[in-house]
Amino acid sequence: MSTIIVQDLKGDILKGYISNPDGTVMGFMPSNSISDKTDSQTSKSTVCFTFEIWQTKSSDGGTTWSSPELISTHTECYSTLTRNSMAISDGGSGGGGYEDYLNGGGNSGSSPQNYNYSLKPSEMVTLNEAKNSLASDCAAGMVISNVWGSLNFRMNSTLTTNGSFDAASNTILFRNTNNITFKTLLEELFHAYQHTYYPSGIRTFSKGKSGWTNIEFEAKVFYDIYMSRNGFNSWLGTWGFPNEDIKKKYRDWIKKLVDYGPTAELMGQYNNWLNLFNTHHPHYKGYLNDKLNATGALLDALSGCN
Ligand SMILES: [Zn+2]
Repeated sequence: MSTIIVQDLKGDILKGYISNPDGTVMGFMPSNSISDKTDSQTSKSTVCFTFEIWQTKSSDGGTTWSSPELISTHTECYSTLTRNSMAISDGGSGGGGYEDYLNGGGNSGSSPQNYNYSLKPSEMVTLNEAKNSLASDCAAGMVISNVWGSLNFRMNSTLTTNGSFDAASNTILFRNTNNITFKTLLEELFHAYQHTYYPSGIRTFSKGKSGWTNIEFEAKVFYDIYMSRNGFNSWLGTWGFPNEDIKKKYRDWIKKLVDYGPTAELMGQYNNWLNLFNTHHPHYKGYLNDKLNATGALLDALSGCN
């Protein structure tokens, strides 16, 4: 998949194209309507974009192409803060946050400028590309179709992880532009899905609370199944496992889930792996809730996909 971005001389995005491996082209055409309002210190703007998805098809291997057909259109508006006032989040992760891809260390050191804003148009193009690459997977596509329309997306430099889901505001956060990837997005989308699936949401199981380990492990299993099913060698559930033998056994379990679906026999082994995760994961261990059977969102997302 590749992206072509057309910008004007001010650097604003005029057009972004994404082409699929089979040659079909999807065009994103944001048309700006900008209204400004200003207060004393902060300059706020509301920026709206209309995304039109166009597609052309070829039935003869790319020699001739159909004329572009409008597949869908929708408008999204974002408020942005411009320079000088550094809008810093109100004291960190607070309640209801899920932070993922812990990279250790954080970004201490030369203390970069802080930022906290709704994604810029160019970042929205990247985000949509990541979304589209996930959407062709049965289970991930199901998750996307359930949660995408209600989600907000922000960039926040205070994250200690690549991505985070804030259940309180139904927002997926990224730490920087480079973190807008299908991998980061996938896990946070699943947290959003868990939040809609479980009757009381997942805020009550958020960071540092009983059940946090259960909710995180379910997301890792979903992630690992996606990656395995789609040919990526990328694993989250094995982090901290003490040796290669145990890691391999976990990977084999995931591969069977891919091949056979979540059979009773395979799901019967779920808690063994959850317990190992709770023993060994350097960040997510220690908040296991024995009474919480958090596999429902996973099973629901996978249903009909085998
Ligand atoms: Zn997570």
